[in-house]
Amino acid sequence: MTHMPEARRWPGSEWLKDHPRLLERVYDVTKALLQRTYPVMKRLSPRLTERLLLWSEELAKGYLFNCQMCGQCILHSTGMTCPMNCPKNLRNGPCGGVRADGHCEVIPEMPCVWVQAWRRSQHMARYRDEILLIQPPVNRALEHTSAWVNMLEGIDTQTPSGWDNG
Ligand code: SF4
Repeated sequence: MTHMPEARRWPGSEWLKDHPRLLERVYDVTKALLQRTYPVMKRLSPRLTERLLLWSEELAKGYLFNCQMCGQCILHSTGMTCPMNCPKNLRNGPCGGVRADGHCEVIPEMPCVWVQAWRRSQHMARYRDEILLIQPPVNRALEHTSAWVNMLEGIDTQTPSGWDNG
């Protein structure tokens, strides 16, 4: 089996993720703020706006969630726990391999991302039940793009051409 490193855990980030109610408030405020300012920012400089959002995501979400920049953020639906830290990159979990101690079958020293996601989601006020939603497969074409921009532009919910049989 290929060796896979455990997800990075920066100082304080686990504590914050264990307080998802606080994080969901930050998410709501940021989203509301961006929905108001993004159209203006985009008109002034679309390129700079995208860069700024991309950079802030790399920095803030990288630190807090070990964000892998999938470009299609579903953190608020997964207990503020990044699903892309699952070694299998599952968008719906857990898999059948969770150990009896709640750890990952691929990286035994790592707590299962989905066990953490479920536990944390149950402490959320607004998004508690979103963990029950079935998530579509991640669109790899959006990797390393800004998830905020993709959300504001409605790109993150579009089905890529070729995926639809209809
Ligand atoms: S779901 Fe995607 S955008 Fe959100 S934190 Fe994880 S890798 Fe980053």
